[in-house]
Amino acid sequence: VTDKIHALPEGANYYSLEFFPPKTSMGFANLTSRLERMSQALRPLFVTVTWGAGGSTATKSLELAEICQRQLGLTTCLHLTCTNMSRSLIDEALEQAKVLGIRNILALRGDAPRSEEYRDEAQSLDEDSNKDFTWAIDLVRYIKRQYGEYFCVGVAAYPEGHSDESHPEHQDPGFDMPYLVEKTKAGADFLMTQLFFDVQAFDRFEEMLRGHESGVFKTIPIIPGLMPIQSYQILRRTTKLSHAKLPAGLLERLDAVKGDDELVKQVGVQILSEMVEHIKKRPSVARRGFHFYTLNLEKAVSHILENTHLIPPTTIEEDAVIDVELTPGTL
Ligand code: FAD
Repeated sequence: VTDKIHALPEGANYYSLEFFPPKTSMGFANLTSRLERMSQALRPLFVTVTWGAGGSTATKSLELAEICQRQLGLTTCLHLTCTNMSRSLIDEALEQAKVLGIRNILALRGDAPRSEEYRDEAQSLDEDSNKDFTWAIDLVRYIKRQYGEYFCVGVAAYPEGHSDESHPEHQDPGFDMPYLVEKTKAGADFLMTQLFFDVQAFDRFEEMLRGHESGVFKTIPIIPGLMPIQSYQILRRTTKLSHAKLPAGLLERLDAVKGDDELVKQVGVQILSEMVEHIKKRPSVARRGFHFYTLNLEKAVSHILENTHLIPPTTIEEDAVIDVELTPGTL
């Protein structure tokens, strides 16, 4: 991922798309054809595939990652969590990723580690359960130790702070900062943020990182995570789960149309397009990236990418291939 970012000309914008593995084979078939369409029409710099906490989607995540990387030739970044999971599952996932030709891992903690009491119980079921992975940094260090520079490693960052059962009271990016510094020093190659709707919160966060006295964030790619608005209900649910604030003006615009799903989507596309344009104008980065939490859906993100001119032009060679394919009889 970072090689591809650095190969872009200065001033270029790029973006990535996130997908999760469907539960059924029918879901896989549908997503595969959607991915095929999206990759041809939208040409993301890379795609990411989520990982169910505790390894709950291990097989399906790897299956989807294989479709993306091998079948569709997309640069793929596999999310991988490290808590409440056996070490052998982490090893298998990394080995399998390598076999598939995947060079990028988003190293995450996942759910907060289980309490000792629960863990002892789980341990008796799975002797290999590990106590070595408590935070994402443990996985970053492990990947770097086992694989050197083979994998490009991304880590999560939180413009509005991180809050869950391990730190319920902290919703302040300042609290996370020392840990984010350590995670980055341990070898993170890029940062990808939690979804947010408050662009000012992202502005403040990015400024805080770039100006940090440690200097570790001076040039590292910081990719803002944006979630297209698919419906009023999904928006309310995901912002509650992620603790993302909905600025009052934005909520008013959505509240005004909340009874009409189609209008919610349209207003959502406008809002996200404005967010992208706002972030594009921010100074201080040579190449500006965006990450979209697609929820496996195609339309809203396609409109946002078109509105904001984020779809890269085809190269001359690609055009030639398309011409050949479209000209009957040339083959
Ligand atoms: P960490 O970096 O370990 O941080 C977790 C919290 O602990 C933070 O509040 C941090 O400040 C604090 N902390 C870190 N180190 C220490 C320490 N030494 N002592 C005390 N406190 C510490 N989850 C999934 O299950 N699957 C996914 O595919 C997935 N994808 C994601 C993609 C992105 C871009 C993001 C932002 C999140 C994703 N998540 C995913 C969610 C993530 O697993 C959770 O947010 C999790 O609660 C924290 O993960 P982390 O990697 O940020 O953890």
